[in-house]
Amino acid sequence: MTGCDTVSFFCGVGKHAFYKAWTTDEETNAFYCLSHPQDNQLSAEIVIALVKFVCKAYGVKGEEGLCLTTARKHLFATLGRPVNKIPPSKGCFEMHLLRSAYQSGQIWGRALHVEKPECPSQWGRRLVGGQWQPIWSTQDAIWSKVQALYKCGCQSGCATMRCNCRRNGLNCILACKICKGDCENKKKDANLLPEDPEEDVDGDV
Ligand SMILES: [Zn+2]
Ligand SMILES: [Zn+2]
Repeated sequence: MTGCDTVSFFCGVGKHAFYKAWTTDEETNAFYCLSHPQDNQLSAEIVIALVKFVCKAYGVKGEEGLCLTTARKHLFATLGRPVNKIPPSKGCFEMHLLRSAYQSGQIWGRALHVEKPECPSQWGRRLVGGQWQPIWSTQDAIWSKVQALYKCGCQSGCATMRCNCRRNGLNCILACKICKGDCENKKKDANLLPEDPEEDVDGDV
């Protein structure tokens, strides 16, 4: 659950913090169920118990610690914690749980069985070039959703793919350093022009 070489780890929190957070029977039961999923499904109650446990390990208890999104918002926006010291997103955690359940239930749980473990395709992995790679999240990366985190510093109109906003499929906004959202990249369907090597671009966020 807290990670191993074949699953994935939690960023910013180690096994010691998780061990300290493990205090209730509800958590012990959730760990057991994680290793013995019924019909390949983790029940909603088990997932909720594990979410609370992870939030607790990141130092979030009470109301805010009942949901990963609320805990992330609390730590990042209210307490100003850096993004690598907050819990994973819901979509990321779901995939991590599937890999944990597979590792503990299918691999270790069946270590003495004759039959082979199931195919990992339902357990947070996909086959890429003959190897099972983790599916990191079922949600889009935050950058594709939060426009405010992308801005550009183009000096000549944002007409080419050198524009940071355009390159990421976003319109320019008021926060852009020079164009302030009033440029060639105002409308999403503007035609893409070939890259202009003369253009001076001044970076990412
Ligand atoms: Zn631009
Ligand atoms: Zn622009």
